[in-house]
Amino acid sequence: MDINEIQRLQANLKEKKVRLIAVSKTHSVDEIKTVYDTGHRLFGENKVQELVPKYELLPKDIEWHFIGHLQKNKVKYIAPFIALIHSVDSLDLLKEINKRAQQSNRVIHFLFEIHIAREESKHGLNENTLRKILEDPEIEQLKNVNPCGLMGMATYTDDESMIRNEFRSLKEIFGRVKEKYFPDAVDFRELSMGMSGDYEIAIEAGSTMVRLGTVIFGEREYLQ
Ligand SMILES: *Cc1c(COP(=O)(O)O)cnc(C)c1O
Repeated sequence: MDINEIQRLQANLKEKKVRLIAVSKTHSVDEIKTVYDTGHRLFGENKVQELVPKYELLPKDIEWHFIGHLQKNKVKYIAPFIALIHSVDSLDLLKEINKRAQQSNRVIHFLFEIHIAREESKHGLNENTLRKILEDPEIEQLKNVNPCGLMGMATYTDDESMIRNEFRSLKEIFGRVKEKYFPDAVDFRELSMGMSGDYEIAIEAGSTMVRLGTVIFGEREYLQ
């Protein structure tokens, strides 16, 4: 971890009005604290069982973002504190988030995750399944969740034009969905796209939030 490099990155993204989510999965509380001490407050995790203990140990002015696949039965553990859930991919999950938000007297901000990559394995909705959710009468009842935009992950490839096309298609979906369903919703404005390998392309394509792990914390080591 190179603090000067992190500060350069923070300044650069700030100038472009792109928010930086430091993805701290697999990294220790001490490593997170080092980044926190540079003034950074936005961190992202992709596993509930890893996020909750970190939340408990670290300062409470951290804004925690949930970026992984979220199981319904785990929503209750993060509902009291989560700042933004990037990965809503079903109406059922959204109803559960709404219910737990209500129990915590909160309104939880979230993004719909859209599948833009070629890989089968990535989670997310397509434009039609998203429209179906937005047209479902039940959505009107969900007063404790606030839709703030879309998230997507590009294919893991060296082919930059493919990545660029995928991010552009997400931006286009965002434009159509915003126009039809959220014309007056000021909060529906975020496009969470871009990771360590492709964030520059994502920013060119209109990203408002990048999720960076490796460029901030270094390579992850997964224990067997
Ligand atoms: C791990 C992860 C990231 C960060 O990946 P890097 O390539 O290390 O920047 C971003 N988004 C999601 C959803 C992730 O799971």
